[in-house]
Amino acid sequence: MPDVKDKPAASSTGGNDPRATPAMRQFYRFKKEHPGCILLFRMGDFYETFDEDAVAIHKALGVTLTERTSGIPMAGVPYHAIDGYLRRLIEQGFRVAVCDQVQDPKEARGVVDRAVTRVLSPGALVDESLLADDEANVLGAIAFLGVESEPGARAALALVELSTGAFSILDCPVESLVDELVRRGVREALYAETADGEMPPRIKRVLDGAGIPGAGRPAWHFRRDEAFEAVTRQYGVASLAGFGLRDDDPSIPAAGAIIRFLRETQSPDGIPESHSQAARTALRPLAHLSPPKRETGADFLVIDAPGMRALEIERTVRGSATGEDFSLVGLFLRAGAGGGCRTSMGKRLVREWLRRPLAQRAAIEARHACVGMLVGDRRMLEAVGDAIDGVQDVARIGGRLALGRATPRDLSALGRSLARTERILDALRINAGENAFGAIVERLDAARTALQPLADDIGASCVDDPPSHLREGGLFRDGVDDELDEARTLQRDASAWLASYQRTLSEQHNLPNLKVGFNKVFGYFIELPRAQAQRAPDAFRRTQTLTNAERYTTPELKTFEEKVTTASDRAIAREQALFDALCARAGANLREIAAFAETVAEIDALRCFAAHAARRAWTRPQMTDEPALDIEQGRHPVLESILADGFVPNDLKLGANGGAAPLALITGPNMAGKSTFIRQTALLVILAHAGSFVPAHRATIGVADRVFTRVGADDALHAGQSTFMVEMTETANILHHRTGRSIVVLDEIGRGTSTLDGLALAWAIGEFLASDPQPRTLFATHYHELTQLEELLPGRVQNLHVAVREWPPGDAHAQIVFLHRILAGRTDRSYGVQVARLAGLPREVVARARELLDSLAVSHEGRDAQALKESSSRKKKPDDAGQLALFREFLPHPAVEELSRVEIERMTPLEAFDALRKLRGMVDGAGG
Ligand code: ADP
Repeated sequence: MPDVKDKPAASSTGGNDPRATPAMRQFYRFKKEHPGCILLFRMGDFYETFDEDAVAIHKALGVTLTERTSGIPMAGVPYHAIDGYLRRLIEQGFRVAVCDQVQDPKEARGVVDRAVTRVLSPGALVDESLLADDEANVLGAIAFLGVESEPGARAALALVELSTGAFSILDCPVESLVDELVRRGVREALYAETADGEMPPRIKRVLDGAGIPGAGRPAWHFRRDEAFEAVTRQYGVASLAGFGLRDDDPSIPAAGAIIRFLRETQSPDGIPESHSQAARTALRPLAHLSPPKRETGADFLVIDAPGMRALEIERTVRGSATGEDFSLVGLFLRAGAGGGCRTSMGKRLVREWLRRPLAQRAAIEARHACVGMLVGDRRMLEAVGDAIDGVQDVARIGGRLALGRATPRDLSALGRSLARTERILDALRINAGENAFGAIVERLDAARTALQPLADDIGASCVDDPPSHLREGGLFRDGVDDELDEARTLQRDASAWLASYQRTLSEQHNLPNLKVGFNKVFGYFIELPRAQAQRAPDAFRRTQTLTNAERYTTPELKTFEEKVTTASDRAIAREQALFDALCARAGANLREIAAFAETVAEIDALRCFAAHAARRAWTRPQMTDEPALDIEQGRHPVLESILADGFVPNDLKLGANGGAAPLALITGPNMAGKSTFIRQTALLVILAHAGSFVPAHRATIGVADRVFTRVGADDALHAGQSTFMVEMTETANILHHRTGRSIVVLDEIGRGTSTLDGLALAWAIGEFLASDPQPRTLFATHYHELTQLEELLPGRVQNLHVAVREWPPGDAHAQIVFLHRILAGRTDRSYGVQVARLAGLPREVVARARELLDSLAVSHEGRDAQALKESSSRKKKPDDAGQLALFREFLPHPAVEELSRVEIERMTPLEAFDALRKLRGMVDGAGG
């Protein structure tokens, strides 16, 4: 029904300005109050947008662009389909303010009252339909601490998952901001805009790097005093000491700004009319927001952003043909044969654990102990799974309760979920011995004590299959409330009363064809066929004439009608009041509900790890404080699930235990399995730190601080940078930040440049990684020359190679067979030509390549390697132009001399880049 009252009334506005009608003035007021948002303005059955918003949604959603009156672009979407459109707008990074009619248009004098009831942005969502159940949706706020250009400059981050109320703060070096945002899955970030409302360039760099939208906020929101005030007011405290925070914590500006943003956009004024005033005032704003938890880098194993991508932690680089998720997270979320998480909360936590594994041995071992207990006792594993099956997303239900957006289904799901606590506790206590779940049991028990009465009440008063909204009632059981029962009895008895009334009238007046009926427009009526109309008694008052019948009413029928309609209104109002009261009660227990949710999530995640370990015969890793890595029969966690028995397990020994050199150089032909091997090792380390068992026969893993990865050439992901530049930037980051506790995984360094450049760089990087503090490193390379490092740096470098078999052996046209087995020592040749033949290069090209290879090998043999070796032992450039004979015409080259002067350890990434550019320039200059 179009909202007639909003039609422009040129005469009453006193002019012809179409922007000055009352409705449009209202629109512009809201538009001004919500800068940066698309304003969806409810008019009758549509949400309309105007001006540039209309153009934007026309482009984003493909809805028709029209004009309201000439000169005002307009585009709208039907109100009943709003959720789908909202989802698409949010996915595209828009922020949206939804403006509803908050008054019955029938009651409006002049323009109908409207209010912005919801502000949605990619980082701040609570509605189930807009959220992925297996992934947190995080909003961030960024504040720079001090001057960015100063060395060691830091930035503060505040992170809120609005749907569950999780809130954490941290600070980190400015250069790892992008990594932090990516690793934590931040969807949108708030920042202080400049005085003229612009995005500062340093923010733009960070947001572009992380590929997320930002929302500018007034700079004063980030000022220390104002921010401190916002935080203390939110929690009603005078100091933050109670949260374990100093009042001058560097992250407070970010924390205050995020709270201010959320209070502005999620305030209870924005709760729809359908929620009663009681529900709106029962809850203080953002009641579910937990106090900010400070995180320090030392607690977590840091995986850099290239590693997240290259190791395919959350998603595969290329999608799979079947649409199946072959990422590490996907391995645990994919349901199937008892695997997979049982609850959405568990799914989100597994993702979280794999994104940010632990870095404290005791905490890691506590998780291993729980997993171990479940793996060792299948009865318990099954019982725990059955017990938490059916626990709903209580974490997000708590959030919706706090924000006044809970539905009848939420409330009933909360009750059913809480009611499972006893069963979960029983399952966790199945095993009478020492219980690794002790702390978890204690927490769950405490939550049960606090929540049992609520669970009982919900269970006793709500039906099992409630309606999705309360418009027609139906949430509460009969017998719960006298007033509700009475109103319902009246409604139900109506048909019996009508039947008996019809019988009485027809007998009394001898009118066998008399009928009593109901229709929506005229209400209850008595109907007589036209032929009998003259016999209608005086008490009947005629209300309507039809072709063949007359309709009447009586005072008695009128009274009845009033009673019934008010009864139905009364019943619905009563249910709303009961619902509000129950929501308010649940709302008083938000902390305990959150604790219950967290505990169940933890149990589910541990159970999921255990189920997978049991299914695939994974083993408990032995954690140690030594920087060692000792893996027997390790497998790739994802590939083994695809190849099953076809996967060839491999051993690895790095560092400390048994004196194995910490740096392994891995050579072997393409396709032999080098990448797989080094990735599987990184994944094993990550799994172990996340608390999972690992795919290996036995594994001893020294606790690590970071996993660095430099793998493959995914330059498409870094628009505007060359492959080589990406490779070097990532490598520079590793060289600057590696410690003696880090794990470094390098695949093919120096591929993006000329052979000689590449070899020189790979060699220098290898040497550097073999110096103190020496990280545990896996370095896959096709530069055979590098294998000499083993001899040059004994105890620091070891050679590994992937075995292949040539068949028939020694034959010029031999085929190669990949054995995928990693062995000590270096590979004898590169087999590049054989692999090229496998790939289907034309016969004559392969033959010619073989010919060339033979002649090159003669001049190559022993000489270039010799040069590097000498240079390495003397740490200076080769002095004889006859050495490094691989590409004789390039020598002697000043670039090598220049390179030997490069002090990588003292360089910033930018300086490293400059040096590289210079080197590259020298090479190009000489070549051209
Ligand atoms: P490289 O890095 O040496 O070029 P990859 O690691 O990419 O080789 O491996 C090539 C292919 O060999 C992979 O797609 C994989 O299917 C297979 N493969 C690798 N390692 C193994 C293994 N240990 N067992 C079975 N198949 C393997």
